[in-house]
Amino acid sequence: LSTAAEVDELITPSVEIRYTKNLINGKFMDAASGKTFPAYDPRTGEVIAHVAEGDQEDINRAVSAARKAFDEGPWPKMTPYERSRILLRVADLVEKHNDELAALETWNNGKLYEQAVNIEVPMFVRLLRYYAGWADKIHGLTVPADGNYHVQVLHEPIGVAGQIIPWNFPILLFAWKVGPALACGNTVVVKTAEQTPLTGLFAAQLFQEAGLPPGVLNVVSGFGPTAGSALASHMDVDKIAFTGSTDTGKIIYQLAAKSNLKPVTLELGGKSPFIVCEDADVDKAVELAHFALFFNQGQCCCAGSRTYVHERIYDEFLEKAKAAALRRVVGDPFKKGVEQGPQVDSQQFEKILKYIKSGVESNATLECGGDRIGTKGFFVQPTVFSNVQDDMSIAKDEIFGPVQTILKFKDTDEVIRRANNTRYGLAAGVFTNNLDTANTLMRGLKAGTVWINCFDVFDAAIPFGGYKMSGVGREKGIYSLHNYLQVKAVVTPLKNP
Ligand code: ADP
Repeated sequence: LSTAAEVDELITPSVEIRYTKNLINGKFMDAASGKTFPAYDPRTGEVIAHVAEGDQEDINRAVSAARKAFDEGPWPKMTPYERSRILLRVADLVEKHNDELAALETWNNGKLYEQAVNIEVPMFVRLLRYYAGWADKIHGLTVPADGNYHVQVLHEPIGVAGQIIPWNFPILLFAWKVGPALACGNTVVVKTAEQTPLTGLFAAQLFQEAGLPPGVLNVVSGFGPTAGSALASHMDVDKIAFTGSTDTGKIIYQLAAKSNLKPVTLELGGKSPFIVCEDADVDKAVELAHFALFFNQGQCCCAGSRTYVHERIYDEFLEKAKAAALRRVVGDPFKKGVEQGPQVDSQQFEKILKYIKSGVESNATLECGGDRIGTKGFFVQPTVFSNVQDDMSIAKDEIFGPVQTILKFKDTDEVIRRANNTRYGLAAGVFTNNLDTANTLMRGLKAGTVWINCFDVFDAAIPFGGYKMSGVGREKGIYSLHNYLQVKAVVTPLKNP
């Protein structure tokens, strides 16, 4: 196993941290309380910036700026084409600052720089262009109703959208949330995750530079139970969208219901099965299953975190999956060739180690890994468990770390039943060349996304979201637009001919 977590050899990112204050009504400002909180480098646990700590009062200010920009301001009154032009300019600016944004993302999150620079920031740009393209194509309907009436259905922006995002894909999820809301003509208040406040503020500055009017997009950094909860329960917020854990999602739903019944979109946790069928090419299956779990340090809501392998190929698969984990290069995420960086913070790091301990205690077989790497930062060894049973907590709970749990199955009906026996339903992976098996699994699995012979394929146009306790609603594609539009029926009598 690589021990590249020699943190004395750290690369210093070539980016300056310029934006640490809340963006409210077009201006960066200190928190009303004057308080700040630290942002960390997960490679070392060292503080890299002090960020304005938004709270109820900052959320109030941001919401009233967004309200004014919606009710009086130019945004919903601009032509859709003008809105589209601004979003396209933002995309151009983000593209121009691609490397800086990626460096900041890696510095504050620990994810691979190569991933941030080649996938996540470019995907931000792609999403913005996709939704900029929609801005002038959102239109209503005319409806042939009974009686002598002319019936129109208008699609209007909802108003002020509150959006709460997590730390695992900070810059990418910022675009998922903000892109469709703005394209539809809404104004927005974003609450970023306390672990990763920096790239959202940088992006917000680029929206201003692109000519977004003040108050249309406001970004408040701060903690969940204070700033996040103030946003979700605000009486003047017309819609709330949240990505994060299922437990917090339930709180958001309650806050929305208890306040003004604002509509809610939730993208929550998962424990997605990755099913390797009998006919699979084992080498390829191992590679994809490894990627499905270990990508982004295992910190993906849709991670393929239950690897179900057919009994006939189980032993060979296990040997090779273990070898793949042992080969995985862990280290400084800025270094070329490194495949896994640190976990985002000490809390996640401790939680993962606790789950590994619980796996050992419940008599799953620890094939490799199981410990931290080095003494600084939050690096975890790529870990593989075999002999995992469905009722163990490592097979039921979201670990959100580099821990692969391998389970054995006998036949298709059985694996469908077991794969669906979970409170989650975000995604599923299927690996087979047998068309009948693929079709049976695809129809039988209760998940918002089924990837067949691929995994983690994301696209601006493909909807994403969960069945069951993995969420409410869908994001991306045309589905995000519906989350940010109000429907108004207009009925006018027609004169008798
Ligand atoms: P995690 O446990 O992985 O950090 P969370 O679901 O708690 O995931 O966090 C995701 C986002 O939700 C973050 O922006 C966080 O600040 C916010 N959040 C956490 N708790 C609450 C809460 N009680 N009310 C509103 N937002 C919250």
